[in-house]
Amino acid sequence: MPGNLSLQSVSAILSVPLGLVVGSFLNVCIWRIPRDESLVFPGSHCPHCHGSISWYDNIPLVSFVWLAGRCRRCKAPIHWRYPLVEGLTAGLYLMTVLHFGVTIRTAVLLLFLSVLVVITFIDLDHGIIPHILSLPIIPIGLVASLLTFDPPPREAVMGALVGAGLVYLVAVYAEVAFQQESMGGGDVNLLSMIGAFLGWRLMLVSFGVAVIAGACLSLALIASRVLSRKDRIPFGPFLALGAVVALFVGDELIDWYLGLFG
Ligand SMILES: [Zn+2]
Repeated sequence: MPGNLSLQSVSAILSVPLGLVVGSFLNVCIWRIPRDESLVFPGSHCPHCHGSISWYDNIPLVSFVWLAGRCRRCKAPIHWRYPLVEGLTAGLYLMTVLHFGVTIRTAVLLLFLSVLVVITFIDLDHGIIPHILSLPIIPIGLVASLLTFDPPPREAVMGALVGAGLVYLVAVYAEVAFQQESMGGGDVNLLSMIGAFLGWRLMLVSFGVAVIAGACLSLALIASRVLSRKDRIPFGPFLALGAVVALFVGDELIDWYLGLFG
C-alpha cells in the first residue's frame, strides 16, 4: 500500500537524526554512569579544559567535522568514540525501522539497542557492566512482551531465566577448568536481559555468536601478540554484537543450523 510505504520511508528518514541525537546522549551515559555522575547536570563540557560546550558545537557528527575533531577552546582532540557512537546508534535505529516498521515492538527494540550500545562501551573502557543498565531493563523487556507478544511472554521469561543460568554455568565451569575468570555477574544480567527482549531462541543464537566471535577475536589478538593469554577480554561487547546479529538474522541462522541436521 502506498500509504504504508510513505509512512515507512518518512520514519526511516527520521530515524537517522533521532539516532544521532540519542547517540549523543548515550555518549554522556557511557562517560558518566561508571563515574557515578548525574546525566543531566552539569551540561556538556570538555573533559580536558572543563569549558562548557555550546549547542552549536554539540550537534552530532556535524560539530565533530566542523571542529575538525578538536575542542574549540583548548584544541584537545575529541575522542573518536563520540562520532562513532552517534553514527552507530543512527545506523541501528535505521535498520530497526526498516526491518520492523513503525510498531510498539520497534520502540521497545530502540530502547534495547540503546542500552546495548552503552553497555558495550562501558565494558570496553572499565571491564564492568553496571547493574543499573541491566537489572531494571529486564522487567521492561518482560512487560513489553505482554504488549507485543513478540516474543511471546512465556518465551521472554524463559529467555531471561535460561540466559542468566547459561552464563552462570559457563562462568563456573571456566573458573574450575581454566582457573580463570571469563565471564562475570554483569554478563549473567546482560544475557538475561537479551533473553527478556528476544526470547530464549534468539538468546541462544546471541550467545552462540558471542562465543564464536569472542573466541576468534581473542585467538587473533593473542596470536598477533596484541594481548597475552592472561589479559581479560570483556565479554559484554560480544554478547551485544550477538544480540544484534540474532535480532536481524537470527531466524535465518536457526533455519540454516537446523538444516545441517536434515
Ligand atoms: Zn577543551
